[in-house]
Amino acid sequence: MVRHSSRIELSQSSLTNNINFIRKKIGEGVRISSVVKANAYGHGIRSFVKMAEKAGVGHFATASAFEAEEVLDAKSDSSDVMIMGILYDEDIVWAVENEIEFYVFNYERLALVLEAAKKTGKQAKVHIEVETGANRTGLTKVDFLPTLAFLKKHSKEIAFKGLCTHFGGAENFSNQFKINMQHERFKNFLKQCHQKNIVPEIRHIACSAAALAYKDTVYDMVRIGVAQYGFWPSPDIYYSHLQEIGKQSDGALKRIFTWKTDVMDVRDVEAGEFIGYGTSYQASQNMKVAVMPLGYSNGYPRAQSNRGHVLIKGKKAQVVGLINMNLFMVDVSHIPDVQVGDEVVLVGRQNNNTINISSFTQVTQLLNNEMLSRLPSAIPRKVVK
Ligand SMILES: *Cc1c(COP(=O)(O)O)cnc(C)c1O
Repeated sequence: MVRHSSRIELSQSSLTNNINFIRKKIGEGVRISSVVKANAYGHGIRSFVKMAEKAGVGHFATASAFEAEEVLDAKSDSSDVMIMGILYDEDIVWAVENEIEFYVFNYERLALVLEAAKKTGKQAKVHIEVETGANRTGLTKVDFLPTLAFLKKHSKEIAFKGLCTHFGGAENFSNQFKINMQHERFKNFLKQCHQKNIVPEIRHIACSAAALAYKDTVYDMVRIGVAQYGFWPSPDIYYSHLQEIGKQSDGALKRIFTWKTDVMDVRDVEAGEFIGYGTSYQASQNMKVAVMPLGYSNGYPRAQSNRGHVLIKGKKAQVVGLINMNLFMVDVSHIPDVQVGDEVVLVGRQNNNTINISSFTQVTQLLNNEMLSRLPSAIPRKVVK
């Protein structure tokens, strides 16, 4: 196999640590659904699913049927897959046939699900998502009673696997009133289930932030994305954890991701010369630069031009000039004896230095997700200890 221009290493021990930490937080008897949408937040869905199974996870949530198909390929027989988002009408039969659980958020869909169950001879497994205040997807109050009646009538063909909703902004305490309102509305839906005597097998509403900071939102299952990858959902959630354990800082969650490449070329640049495209960087003295074999088309953000850093021989080397489509340069004047082929860390640790994802995106976790999820799936992922 020809070598790719960069590689991503995933730490099994860090993931196991994170899953165990989350387990301790949510308590016994609560199932973790590992959210692996967006190529497992850029970590690589196939490698990640296998790693999560090693850490004891047996349930995976995706945003699309397309992603679910990848999970199906990678997972062991005993794990379950759940589609939270897009499943086209023409793929419902495929989902039922493969025993994939999926969200239903409008009443009309149920007739198609029933049809698919009859056609395949298999029971469909649906999670009814209810509208509680995020106003994206979710069944409204008006449609809920007919839905319950339908599920009751066709319980042989359709399993009422779950009742769920999603919080719009649980990571910020300033949204607490909204989260509380959403939770109250969810409880009302649940009450109606009991009144009509048709109850879901499981209830699940908490994402990472809610699972870590709002204990009362932890029902039978939690849907964990960002935290399992080793990121606190926000400073609010981190500080509430510190308060809970009475400490000043805590390394309970560990990043599992390291992104590496190798020095492609090393060259001397004379004072007064410009580096790369245009004139955005001019050498003010004689310098030595190392060429990196990747650029913005490989997921390395163009915004890092003239300001990002990489690690070579454990030392920080600053990006000089613009990030090109497939190349960029770094200043290694201060690092002795840099050679072609030397390992470069783009994100992660080398010796005693670290480049964080947050140094790319300046603080907000949402942007962390954005940066990670845009890493091309073509970059090879390798699981390490
Ligand atoms: C992405 C997503 C999650 C996971 O959110 P995190 O904050 O990353 O834990 C949970 N539920 C739904 C419906 C989602 O779309």
